[in-house]
Amino acid sequence: MQVKAKKSLGQNFLIDKKVIFKIVSAIEIEGKNIIEIGPGTGNLTEIILSKKPNKLFVIEKDIHLCEILHEKFKNKVTIFNEDILKFNLERFKNNNFTVFGNLPYNISSKIISKFVNNSDTILFDDLIFMFQKEVGDRILANVNTSLYGRLSILLNWRLNIKKICDIKPNCFNPKPKVDSSLIHFKYKEKFFPISNIKNLETITRIFFNQRRKKIKKPFKQIFQDFEEISNELEIDLNLRPQNLDIEAFCKITEKYENLIS
Ligand code: SAH
Repeated sequence: MQVKAKKSLGQNFLIDKKVIFKIVSAIEIEGKNIIEIGPGTGNLTEIILSKKPNKLFVIEKDIHLCEILHEKFKNKVTIFNEDILKFNLERFKNNNFTVFGNLPYNISSKIISKFVNNSDTILFDDLIFMFQKEVGDRILANVNTSLYGRLSILLNWRLNIKKICDIKPNCFNPKPKVDSSLIHFKYKEKFFPISNIKNLETITRIFFNQRRKKIKKPFKQIFQDFEEISNELEIDLNLRPQNLDIEAFCKITEKYENLIS
């Protein structure tokens, strides 16, 4: 079926069968509860269904596409015609889910952050998301590299992250301008306990606002007794934000939480 893609909704439909099979082969689907975000015309949905999931839920903002999906899959799929950014994930609270998303690029980072924010109450098994390669590279960036920053810290704090593969523009219709990366996320069993991820967001925002400056400045801005605290945490104030690993940012956040509680 020919559907005119809407640019405003980041619609780039996957047309390469090999890539679609690679996505669904990344993890076991049979007997599992699956959520697909942004199913579009159902190219990936169809192959997920062929792997016999227990239940398949899709969340699609475009009403016209929801009608097409309903026509195509009838009651084999539960369709939510909603915006994933406003969607209440609590609805899926009592079951385990695997989530697939060939996401619109302009909101992909926001969507994955939403899954980290909700992780206290809801645990998903696996998340398999497509990103613009450049965003994927930032998510996967290691400490002491120029791409390392807030996105890598916030996501790696809570998730184990692996790239499955890169995907070329000609696998989509219409073709996006850039390469994509398919990334697999799994919740960590052990992670540094922070009361509220918002505080880690705040701390990393303050530090990375001045990416090239020594960290003495943000330390001073946050803590009155900044020298005492940095000594206790054994953090050298002459370093720059990109030199601090995730644990260091978590420890700073812990001190900040003590301060504001
Ligand atoms: N998964 C499909 C389509 C990918 S295009 C495929 O691989 O072929 C991205 C899809 O996300 C589109 O269908 C678009 O309508 C949908 N979308 C865009 N913004 C959305 C949002 N905020 N919430 C839910 N779906 C959204």
